[in-house]
Amino acid sequence: MCVTARLAEAGIGVTLLEQAQPGRAATRSSFAWLNANDKAPRAYHDLNHAGMRAWAGLAASLDGAAWYRPVGNIEWAASAPERAKLEARVRRLAGWGYPARLIDAAEAAELEPSMRLPQSVADAAWFPGEGYLLTERLVSELVELAVQRGATMLTGEAGRVVGFDAADGAVRGVQTAAAQVIAADAVVCCAGRWVPELAALAGAACPVPLVPWAEPGAAAPGLVVQAGPVMPPGPARVVHTPEVYLRPQSGGLVHLEAPDAAVDLHTPEADLRRWAEELLRRARRAVRGLEDASVTGYRVCVRPMPADGRSIVGWLPGAGGLYVAVTHSGVTLAAHLAQLITTELADGTTAAELAPYRPNRFTVTP
Ligand SMILES: Cc1cc2nc3c(=O)[nH]c(=O)nc-3n(C[C@H](O)[C@H](O)[C@H](O)COP(=O)(O)OP(=O)(O)OC[C@H]3O[C@@H](n4cnc5c(N)ncnc54)[C@H](O)[C@@H]3O)c2cc1C
Repeated sequence: MCVTARLAEAGIGVTLLEQAQPGRAATRSSFAWLNANDKAPRAYHDLNHAGMRAWAGLAASLDGAAWYRPVGNIEWAASAPERAKLEARVRRLAGWGYPARLIDAAEAAELEPSMRLPQSVADAAWFPGEGYLLTERLVSELVELAVQRGATMLTGEAGRVVGFDAADGAVRGVQTAAAQVIAADAVVCCAGRWVPELAALAGAACPVPLVPWAEPGAAAPGLVVQAGPVMPPGPARVVHTPEVYLRPQSGGLVHLEAPDAAVDLHTPEADLRRWAEELLRRARRAVRGLEDASVTGYRVCVRPMPADGRSIVGWLPGAGGLYVAVTHSGVTLAAHLAQLITTELADGTTAAELAPYRPNRFTVTP
């Protein structure tokens, strides 16, 4: 939706093809934490930091962007080795000019009154420039904006791409499940975890390799849990503890994830339920305000994760006219990537910032 809205703003005729409704796949369930926190190497950190600034700019340009929550992030570590790693990260990030510092327990309590910092933990890390997005609100606003700017929206069967119209190795348009052929000068494929299959359909000469997500034990799926009601003063910021990650969610709820919730698309319902209850127990240990809360929803979601951990953005070799954009941290990056992609498409230029992320790095040489 970011790319659609930006292309339309640049005066380019654009049609969004979406097989369901915009924002319902990875984006809807995302933790949506805006950060460049532990993103190596430096160039990828910088790209993510630019992503954070792009949201600040977009939110400022739109009146009352209720989806933008630059509330900061507090993280603490329990064991001595983990504390040492966290302190080293804070030092590295601060050295890169990224807002990051260690705070003592008193300041942590002032910043996040709901937090139950264990007595054994003397300090925490504070990242004031971070935050989160309410993605459902954001996507509806982007749909409205794109339509106002002249974009055409095709959803459901009318928007499901089932093939490409190609001639002489160049993509000239798409075929939809409604048997329509839509001609285009360029097709930008932002289909998340489905990008590899669409790229193959278009006859791309190189793969778009993602971390496996479909089979049992695959690493890309993650569990997201919502719980509530939250009683004041519930958490207001993004909070990372060793056993649970949490942030406020709309509707008086909290969004919960955990680093060790090992689930996939085949995990039995009873196990998912057990994990969801476990995350709520951990969240109660981490913050106040959840005493009356229960699990209101949980879901296994798939992260579109490039196999080498870096975004894949650019023209696809062997399928002229097909531009792909698939990435993890896609919430942090979307506004900035949309701007870079629009400039590349509108002006025919190449953005130096995108050089490390080109799809041709996966080209197999015979
Ligand atoms: C649990 C979880 C936690 C995350 N946490 C964070 C985080 O804290 N911070 C962060 O920045 N990122 C995070 N991410 C990653 C981020 O959410 C994703 O990178 C981002 O949402 C990807 O957006 P997308 O639009 O590329 O893909 P998606 O949101 O998956 O959208 C792809 C769309 O393509 C459509 N589509 C697919 N095939 C077709 C077809 N043939 N025809 C038409 N339409 C099609 C789908 O219906 C879907 O709507 C997280 C992701 C998950 C799952």
